[in-house]
Amino acid sequence: MTIYVDNAATTKLSETALNAMLPLMTEHYGNPSSLHHIGQKAKELLEDSRERIANILGASPSEIYFTSGGSEADNQAILSAAYAGAQKGKKHIISSKFEHHAVLHTLDKLKLEGFEITLLDVYKEGIVRLEDVANAIRDDTALVTIMTANNEVGTIQPIAEIGKLCREKGVLFHTDAVQAVGHIPVNVKDFNCDFLSVSAHKFHGPKGVGVLYARKGTILKSLINGGAQERNKRAGTEYTYGAVGMAAALGEAVNNLDKNAKYVASLRDKIIDGVSDIERSFVNGDLTERLPGTVNMCFEGIEGESLLLLLDQDGICASSGSACTSGSLDPSHVLLSMGVPVAVAHGSLRISLSEYNTEEEVEIIISSIHKVVKYLRSISPVWEKIMKGEEIE
Ligand SMILES: *Cc1c(COP(=O)(O)O)cnc(C)c1O
Repeated sequence: MTIYVDNAATTKLSETALNAMLPLMTEHYGNPSSLHHIGQKAKELLEDSRERIANILGASPSEIYFTSGGSEADNQAILSAAYAGAQKGKKHIISSKFEHHAVLHTLDKLKLEGFEITLLDVYKEGIVRLEDVANAIRDDTALVTIMTANNEVGTIQPIAEIGKLCREKGVLFHTDAVQAVGHIPVNVKDFNCDFLSVSAHKFHGPKGVGVLYARKGTILKSLINGGAQERNKRAGTEYTYGAVGMAAALGEAVNNLDKNAKYVASLRDKIIDGVSDIERSFVNGDLTERLPGTVNMCFEGIEGESLLLLLDQDGICASSGSACTSGSLDPSHVLLSMGVPVAVAHGSLRISLSEYNTEEEVEIIISSIHKVVKYLRSISPVWEKIMKGEEIE
């Protein structure tokens, strides 16, 4: 038995997406740059996908660039805005402490190149405050980049308001909407954004394809040298199957968005309810401004890794906030940015559901969490200390 609840990491390809992709592999396999009919057919399907994705996002097709995914879209948006700003003497960028590494590591690179980076607090709720953005904007601010929804805790940011503020101040605004698209309404006009990143494999599309929305009039820098594909902004023969699969998956996701969101949120709330009787456990981040399917919890006195491995033995595929770096377990930068103590952040568990999950699975998850947490605490020296009321580092 496998219970897959790691949909914030990646999702299963939907049958609709698969069926849309197959003919491109077997029949319409031409290169969109070729002038013969099989190439032109591939080009037609590629452009049709671009148009469908543009319509869903509220963009025009000429503002949509296919990329290899969310990471590339983030890199291209941020570097483009930064270098365009630098040409005008603007070398300040505002972001938040709990962005995805595709954003944070791009900002690290820019810092080495002399840019000044302000990372805003996200507080206990895991939400950036509009007044902090307003206070951080300076005459030399080139870009504000804030994610639409966080990938570890699922909290949703006030993107439309931040976008409006940036527009008023004449500052470029990018949002990494990878966790949001296909799950909550996303529209580039409502968001007032100049750049927006999307990745197909987070909404049951294929891996290795995404989209960068770049508003008309913005200057995009190409990251890959080569041919003239994607209007000279992204060289390399187009991943036609990916684009078509992405458009199909996105269409399916937005057509069922309300229904899926309601269903998935009900499963999520059942889990939160079902484990709420476990002492010294809590949900991370704001309880209302969140994605329907993502919940991140901490269980004091245990290690998230052990928790995951034991859940996996029960067939449950979830995720913890910690990442294993060079043999040592580092707690998640996201939880730390929200003020979760290091010792507690170690015991985190992220469950991210999809419409493919069932009520029965949720029951199994709840009882497995009870069993595993109880067992791990029974052998945990940290838990013993907590029970004795001793100080934890
Ligand atoms: C998954 C994810 C990315 C990276 O997308 P890829 O397509 O895997 O490169 C970026 N940002 C967020 C918020 C994500 O969840």
